Amino acid sequence: MTTNTPPRLLVIEDEHDIAALLDLHLSDLPATVTIARDGPSGLALATEQRFDAIVLDLRLPGLSGLDLCRALRSRGHDVPILMLTARAAELDRVLGLELGADDYVTKPFSLLELQARVRALLRRSAKSSPSAPADLPQILASAELRIDREQRRAWLAEQELVLTPREFDLLWHFMRHPGRAFTRAELLEQVWGYGHDGYDHTVNSHINRLRAKLGDDRSEARFIHTIWGVGYRFEAAGTA
Ligand code: CA
Repeated sequence: MTTNTPPRLLVIEDEHDIAALLDLHLSDLPATVTIARDGPSGLALATEQRFDAIVLDLRLPGLSGLDLCRALRSRGHDVPILMLTARAAELDRVLGLELGADDYVTKPFSLLELQARVRALLRRSAKSSPSAPADLPQILASAELRIDREQRRAWLAEQELVLTPREFDLLWHFMRHPGRAFTRAELLEQVWGYGHDGYDHTVNSHINRLRAKLGDDRSEARFIHTIWGVGYRFEAAGTA
């Protein structure tokens, strides 16, 4: 993706009305949108052409979204994938993560939210442009915490953590920059990938859930420290 060429999006969705809506609103980003109406043709397009991100419906004729995702990842394609699911319960989030989806949106979705999520995926794919991935570390460790970017899995004292995609991204971002203080606005910009004022509570609630999963006590944090009046800093206890 370059600055003067709009990013290329592949939308794999069999429901005609939703595909048309996605086409309309994602073209506005701006982006060049290609639509596939079933699993096999979506997989063929995703394999043969280069896309900057894929919006993938879970229920598709011919090949399910999960199988399509798995097939792409097993062939080494690392294109960012946003999954659409009719009900949250339809998709086992852990399974989805293992198969390599990057984010999820539940139907019915707000078009603004969908645009924002796709924009965030595009930013991520722009950052890891073809020259970068080889140099980026894939596994980071700090004290008894370990995170694997390629597998999108994390462990605390050898116990696997069950993280949402956003919690994973947050943890990865923190562990990439140990000791560095981030404001909530910076975290929104760098992890969520889109700027929106007045959503500090979004960051707070994600941080609180992530802390709970890390066993971090607010008064005696081992990993994510609050810097009053600033934001947050990651530093594993004992490594400072
Ligand atoms: Ca469908």
